[in-house]
Amino acid sequence: MRELYKLPESITHILAAGEVVERPASCLKELLENSIDAGASLIDVKIEKGGMKRIEVYDNGKGIHPDDIEYVFERHTTSKIKSFEDIFSIKTMGFRGEALCAISSVAKVTLVSKHLEEEQGCMVKVEGGKVLSKSFCPFKEGTRIIVEDIFYNTPARLKFLKSPSTEQKYCLEVVEKIAIAWPEISFRAEADGKRQIFTPGDNKIESVIGSIFGIEIVKNLVEFSLEKESLKVWGYFVNPTVSRATRSGYHFYVNRRYIKSKLLSSCIDEAFKNSVITGRFPIVFLFVQIPPSEIDVNVHPSKLEVKFRDERFVYNTIYKAIADSLKSEKMIPKADLGK
Ligand code: ADP
Ligand code: MG
Repeated sequence: MRELYKLPESITHILAAGEVVERPASCLKELLENSIDAGASLIDVKIEKGGMKRIEVYDNGKGIHPDDIEYVFERHTTSKIKSFEDIFSIKTMGFRGEALCAISSVAKVTLVSKHLEEEQGCMVKVEGGKVLSKSFCPFKEGTRIIVEDIFYNTPARLKFLKSPSTEQKYCLEVVEKIAIAWPEISFRAEADGKRQIFTPGDNKIESVIGSIFGIEIVKNLVEFSLEKESLKVWGYFVNPTVSRATRSGYHFYVNRRYIKSKLLSSCIDEAFKNSVITGRFPIVFLFVQIPPSEIDVNVHPSKLEVKFRDERFVYNTIYKAIADSLKSEKMIPKADLGK
């Protein structure tokens, strides 16, 4: 007797969801990226109980057409790429068409949106991957998505979440990291009714850094930049007299996507080797702009990793940009720091 059995979609969706939505913060990240892709200039986040009870994201972007609205929850439905070739010239944050499918299969979702060319708003409710209702309703502009009771139908996954205060910290970190890369967007975030983050949306990275990390950090920012061929690297580091005990001050962005990168971490370590006390780490905001054809962001569904085609070139360019700036700023030499 055959033993192979093809899993029904109701199960495969939940399995796939684990890769995209690991916790409330990863869900929030996907929602924020959708708001950015929709061209929003204002994004308002409200979370309750670390996002475990409720995550709400409002944006004033272009909205979703009422004919499309229930299909955004189907797997691999996206308005962002059409052909295989498009994958190599991605300009949007999302493109896999997986996030809303994944989120809606493990949570209760309400989506209200008004497409900019439509008169009316439209609301859909989805639960455990099933569309429960769809109706027209008044709505001024943009999109509001509410995600409630995440992992209500996957208790095993719920158990892996940390305390509400830790999950809240992760959620707010996501907003901060994204806000830094999008200074032209005003971000607001509230947790359990308390205002936590506000960025003005005045298109100045210094304003965002100031509103998140405080004015003292802004006063000590040192700029660096270097352009080589089609690669552009720029950013700020904080005068290395201010340092941290961990690499938590490393903020890396590639084409405005925040990433984790061993390559870039070791480059920063090396560039600051003689400026920061051994065992301490600088605070760096590093932006890399590189043609999409030179990188692969498709390494993992959460898109946190990026693979550079020419790692050495990227490393050397960043190193030089920072080293030149450290030199010209005549930073306090390491030897004097311990005094
Ligand atoms: P992806 O972002 O990879 O396309 P998602 O599942 O995140 O996949 O979203 C599916 C589609 O839903 C998007 O391609 C977009 O057309 C639409 N969408 C989602 N969120 C928004 C939003 N906030 N504003 C406008 N359209 C949205
Ligand atoms: Mg998306």
